[in-house]
Amino acid sequence: MKLKIAIQKSGRLSEESLRLLKDCGISLNNGISKLKTEAYNFPLEIFFLRDDDIPQYIEDGVADIGIVGENVLLEKNKQVKTIDRLGFGKCRLSLAFPKEKNYKSVKDLNGLKIATSYSNILAKYLKQQKVKAEIHEISGSVEIAPGIGLADAICDLVSTGSTLLSNGLKEVEVILRSEAVLVANKDLAKEKKELLDKLLFRIKALRSANNNKYILLNAPNKKLDAICKILPGMKSPTILPLAEKGWSSVHSVVEENKFWEIIEKLKLNGAQGILVVPIEKMII
Ligand code: ATP
Ligand code: ZN
Repeated sequence: MKLKIAIQKSGRLSEESLRLLKDCGISLNNGISKLKTEAYNFPLEIFFLRDDDIPQYIEDGVADIGIVGENVLLEKNKQVKTIDRLGFGKCRLSLAFPKEKNYKSVKDLNGLKIATSYSNILAKYLKQQKVKAEIHEISGSVEIAPGIGLADAICDLVSTGSTLLSNGLKEVEVILRSEAVLVANKDLAKEKKELLDKLLFRIKALRSANNNKYILLNAPNKKLDAICKILPGMKSPTILPLAEKGWSSVHSVVEENKFWEIIEKLKLNGAQGILVVPIEKMII
């Protein structure tokens, strides 16, 4: 039995979705088919699809799991289960308004025409905000709509905002903060669930590795107590004697977000020759 995963065929999520599989130690056969391929060292079949189609395929059970932006997931509103947030493909779904026009609050959109590819999410948002505007659904190049007189405002994905700026628009409201998520069919068979758990175990090991660094340093023995208090390690730091008498080498694992703070304290406490090494996988 193979687990079937759907990923975006070509677009902003494709490269990182493939990299995630690769970092999980899954190698793909370079098949001739552009639609699907298989892994040769994990029971996994990979389908390459348009991102918009992924939620439906998973709801129907054509694919078991998939990687898709939360924006697409919410817009399509299919019956699938979100398993994990993947930390890439980050963007915002925002309302944008012509730069030169005055904008104070969302109420200013009353009676206007808004172009978007996200009519469901937008309709829900406008309803919550008690704004009555006309939604004009278009499938691509939404940002040019105000410029050509097709709409007064737009609701579209933004990452840096440079596309908006170059089209004479300003971001005025953020409706949703999105990233790529791993989703699954709601009734996976037991064997498939087990395969999914195996994959999740690997994804979590990667994430821990990315959030941690391996650190090596030298310290005089009389400072070891103080240094060990600063370094928590996975259990406790490893201490090895150096050839030079009275000195030791200390090894430990440090969380990325506490990293600089810890380095400063280590230096103050006599640590020398500090080396920091990335960790590839971390199994706790
Ligand atoms: P497809 O051909 O698969 O339908 P697409 O053109 O709809 O592709 P892409 O532009 O490749 O989709 O974007 C895929 C996903 O990447 C988006 O749904 C969103 O979750 C994410 N994303 C991240 N940053 C951005 C951005 N700046 N603009 C658009 N999408 C972004
Ligand atoms: Zn799409």
